[in-house]
Amino acid sequence: MSTDDAEQTQTFADLGLRDELLSALTTLGYEEPTPIQSESIPHLIAGRDLLGQAATGTGKTAAFALPILDRLQPGKRGEEPSALILVPTRELAMQVSEAVHKYGKDLGARVVPIYGGQPISRQLQALRRGVDVVIATPGRAVDHIKRGTLPLDFIEIVVLDEADEMLDMGFAEDLDAILEATPESRQTVLFSATMPSKIEKLARRHLTDPINIRIAREIAEPGSAPKVRQSAYVVPRSHKPAALGRILDVESPAAAIVFCRTRHEVDQLSETLNGRGYRAEALHGGMSQEARDRVMGRVRAGTAELLIATDVAARGLDIDQLTHVVNYDVPSAPEAYVHRIGRVGRAGREGVAITLAEPREHRLVENIQRVTGQKIAFEKVPTIADLRNRRMELTLATLRESLIDDDLDRYRTIVETLTDEFDLVEIALAAVKLAHEAVGGDEDETEIPEIAPRKQSGNYEDRGKPGKSFKDGKPSKDGKGGKFGKEGKGPKGDKGERLSKGDAVRLYFPIGRSAHVRPGDLVGAIAGETSLSGKDIGAIEITENFSLVEVPGKSVEEVIGAMKRTTIKGLKITPRRERF
Ligand code: AMP
Repeated sequence: MSTDDAEQTQTFADLGLRDELLSALTTLGYEEPTPIQSESIPHLIAGRDLLGQAATGTGKTAAFALPILDRLQPGKRGEEPSALILVPTRELAMQVSEAVHKYGKDLGARVVPIYGGQPISRQLQALRRGVDVVIATPGRAVDHIKRGTLPLDFIEIVVLDEADEMLDMGFAEDLDAILEATPESRQTVLFSATMPSKIEKLARRHLTDPINIRIAREIAEPGSAPKVRQSAYVVPRSHKPAALGRILDVESPAAAIVFCRTRHEVDQLSETLNGRGYRAEALHGGMSQEARDRVMGRVRAGTAELLIATDVAARGLDIDQLTHVVNYDVPSAPEAYVHRIGRVGRAGREGVAITLAEPREHRLVENIQRVTGQKIAFEKVPTIADLRNRRMELTLATLRESLIDDDLDRYRTIVETLTDEFDLVEIALAAVKLAHEAVGGDEDETEIPEIAPRKQSGNYEDRGKPGKSFKDGKPSKDGKGGKFGKEGKGPKGDKGERLSKGDAVRLYFPIGRSAHVRPGDLVGAIAGETSLSGKDIGAIEITENFSLVEVPGKSVEEVIGAMKRTTIKGLKITPRRERF
């Protein structure tokens, strides 16, 4: 083992956060701040406005949530909110509100999400009971402001999260109106995955002398990462343990390290993988030095094949026989990725780096590719058929080995006795079946939904340029055509007219004006649950009782599958292809 003392780590305590927040972070198993957190939190605590470029998965939610909570007065607080967080979709509103609630538990933080699709009365009650932090989608925030039910006089900080998505969804005017309604003295924070000029303009209108933070730009020299086969799999969160199990079954690593974000994830995943028949060992900062040494001993002796670890615990570990590095989550910054995968492929040996990305995290993978200048191939999670083939191959190899190496003569009488009754091939088949079952057989597996990675733009910044790929209708770089969509109104009747590339499919949603559905509800539900962003969604037509939404042909199954997991306006809606 060698130690990397050169790495200087900052702790959450170094960032100046209150004890109640530090204890919440320890309980959650966060071991150290991510780069966006280290860079933003001290400025935000100091009250500065901030313009940050960061995508989902970088830890940006905690980067703004912790400073918001840090300023909450101890003891009894007023009824009106002091912080407003604006997010593009209902799903994100729920996610952010859960995160703020978790971090602010020991402070008694009162958090209310408000979004379209939930009865307004429930939100009114929650607002009336007193609230510290409101997380809202812009449309619903405007509704409440108009009704006079979202008091903004005491707002000290406003956060625009995923601002590019909000603009893409046509919320520009709503954002302006909401910000105008808050006190001028407020602190304003804007996070966006991309920085097109419309975001810069929005920032110029509403931010005062902001700190600019751009995470992970020029860190690694292109080509400086080791030569390693790198692949990524897009998998919904709930299927990640099963997907990883399958990928490992097919890859058969001699020794692998699997990186997780938190201690809890490390513990849970080691349990799952042990249940799957792997010898997996957990390693994290919550373990004593002795326990960690024991684990490392087992890994080095080859009695454990998988080491499941947090970055902090694995820092400085050098394991010679490592063949695979697995990122169970996309690392929060490209440096972390480069650092992790640098553990394999050393000294001319072959190495494999595998990354699991949730649908919303595909951008982080693209960003890593751009910064490192290395290709990460998006692969499909092995299907049940792939697994079966692989297991058959293993059985074949095991039998071949046995035929070459073993003394099989003592079984001859069994075969000879059976030949009186059965054909020789049938006897062999029965023996193969037993051998196959002995090495695992074909266990029951459920199919994991296939999620196509979003088109690799190769030009990360282009997404944000308004209407670019829609208006000119030029084919994308891969020659297969990029955006699509017939001429017509985009979400919220925005000005971006979209030209068809022929591969758009109209989905029929059995919900319409009679249920008060708006384009933003449909876009929000789709963008929130699938790998599509607002811009990938084409024309939307809403009639009294149903709506038609254009989505890319290749994403039809993904959208239909995703809608089964969510609701629109509180209703379970199953879309289908439009019938003519
Ligand atoms: P976000 O980019 O805010 O969507 O966060 C991505 C994920 O990282 C969430 O699941 C967070 O719970 C997790 N996370 C955020 N900060 C940290 C940290 N410092 N250590 C470990 N996990 C974190």
